[in-house]
Amino acid sequence: MEEEKIVQVFGSITVDELAAALNISVTTLIGELFKNGIAATINQRIDFETATIIVEELGIKAKLEKKLAAEKSVLVEKHQLSDAAVARPPIVAIMGHVDHGKTTLLDTLLHKKTVETEAGGITQHISAYQIRHNDRPITFLDTPGHEAFAALRQHSATLTDIVVLVVAADDGVKPQTAEAIKFAQSANADIIVAINKIDKEAADVNRVMAQLATDQGLNPEEWGGKTIMVPVSAKTGEGLDKLLDMIFLTADIDDLRADVDIPAEGLVIESHMEIGKGSIANLLVEQGNLKQGDYVIAGKAYGKVRTMANYKGEVMQLAGPSTPVTITGFKELPNFGDRFNVVKNEKTAKKLAEQAAIAIEKEMAITNVTGSDMLKMISEKHDVKDFNVVVKTDVLGSLTSVVDSLRLIDTKGEVNLHVIGTGVGNITENDIRLAAGENTVVYGFNVELTPSIKRLATRHDVEVNLFKVIYELLDDAKAHMEQLMAPEVIETEIGELAVKGVFRTIKEEIIAGGEVTKGKVSPGVVAKVFRKKDEIAEVEVSSVQHEKQQVQSAVEGETCGLALKTKKKVILEIGDRLVFVTREIKQKKL
Ligand code: GDP
Repeated sequence: MEEEKIVQVFGSITVDELAAALNISVTTLIGELFKNGIAATINQRIDFETATIIVEELGIKAKLEKKLAAEKSVLVEKHQLSDAAVARPPIVAIMGHVDHGKTTLLDTLLHKKTVETEAGGITQHISAYQIRHNDRPITFLDTPGHEAFAALRQHSATLTDIVVLVVAADDGVKPQTAEAIKFAQSANADIIVAINKIDKEAADVNRVMAQLATDQGLNPEEWGGKTIMVPVSAKTGEGLDKLLDMIFLTADIDDLRADVDIPAEGLVIESHMEIGKGSIANLLVEQGNLKQGDYVIAGKAYGKVRTMANYKGEVMQLAGPSTPVTITGFKELPNFGDRFNVVKNEKTAKKLAEQAAIAIEKEMAITNVTGSDMLKMISEKHDVKDFNVVVKTDVLGSLTSVVDSLRLIDTKGEVNLHVIGTGVGNITENDIRLAAGENTVVYGFNVELTPSIKRLATRHDVEVNLFKVIYELLDDAKAHMEQLMAPEVIETEIGELAVKGVFRTIKEEIIAGGEVTKGKVSPGVVAKVFRKKDEIAEVEVSSVQHEKQQVQSAVEGETCGLALKTKKKVILEIGDRLVFVTREIKQKKL
């Protein structure tokens, strides 16, 4: 038997490379592309989906595997712990349902006011802080919503050791509480529950514990379970020392360690441009000591650490494991979620950055042949609809979060999401032009729409939606995608009948009678005809007679006569079974 070829596609592939991999001539491939409405030249790139379709059309036995360029662009191996590793501070993320007090808790812990400035009560960027308790440091991450966090995880970033799950004692377990638990579990992080707002009259700590125990499988230690739960008030500060003690206790049990005598490495957790300062990157050091003057590389961005500061803006000379820092010096903005590494000199940094750039370009440069017509063609073939988005955000960190979170919306292959444009900054004329097509929305996150651009959008019939809260943006995208999904037909069985007599059969009508053995039958419903186990036809009940009267229904135990409408001739037999169903069309939900 001919063996199936496996072709690895790193995001996209050139016509030349694909022809070589398939062992066919470039002319054949170009010819096939042309037949499909794509005029491609030898050096052009086609994306994974297009390549798959073409291979199928050509009838070649080959399997295309989609690979992330990132898999190729990991140029520096992640460091493995050595025996010399020393204890490091725990990295703690505060999660929980909106309004349960995450920001207030962090704020009280940091003794600093940030609550007022934030939009919609949801923290937008990942920021990191470090505080000391009993003279031991502890790193807190302020998370930009769980979706973005999940997106980070997709970048294979394990960012959290411990999740402090905030549950308001007057409100109890809510959907995002459950989501946070799932997240923590899948990230292998320990969970410590902070039952918050105990200063409120309506607070009921025991009820929260019971909910967590019965619905979420988190058994309080007090009740003989494994989960530490600490009643606190983020407002008055009550219980917070105990919470911090419990965090250290958990960290000690986990025996968190890192090496220090190695070139520093870690994660990019935020990045943006600032006038006068250039690129600002927030990094979380995982291993090693980061110093001013170090050469760093993260993806295709590289630079020399020019200035380094802690979250308060105080200058730092050296940052060890688990320390969040803000640095300047990257020549271009590194991406949120990318790993960073310190390398020995500028030459190495530059070389690695260039290699990464090539790998990334391969992934990003999808489709210089795939215009919107091509997308349409593909979707028509597969009956898969496209939803195109242009995303503009205030900072790069949110851009990555929004785009990654959008990509995580799973429509089970029914709608293809295409990010056709992205950028940092306000919505521009170019964004509107890019979005002038069917099923396309421009999303602005924490950015503005000037009146002139708004007019342009209206003139071109382009939908522009602005958001300050990531969940709302995602909900809007989901709603758009739901509209594009094929509606679902919901079938409900309402009854059954055993056929006892067949009185007349003409081309489009059958008159038969029998006994309702289950449920009921009414005019207008569909009857599936079963002979023994097989379904042999489908007919429609046009009227029901009981004791010589037309009735609206005949129920279980009654005998009745039925007029059945058929599209093609059906010969009904005594002993057949009719199963009555109603059907309704429902829009699918995401
Ligand atoms: P987040 O959305 O989880 O970050 O919640 P916030 O920290 O923004 O808190 C939501 C609201 O609850 C704010 O009005 C806070 O002042 C209030 N709040 C938070 N913690 C407490 C607490 O311990 N006690 C009381 N009484 N109110 C609290």
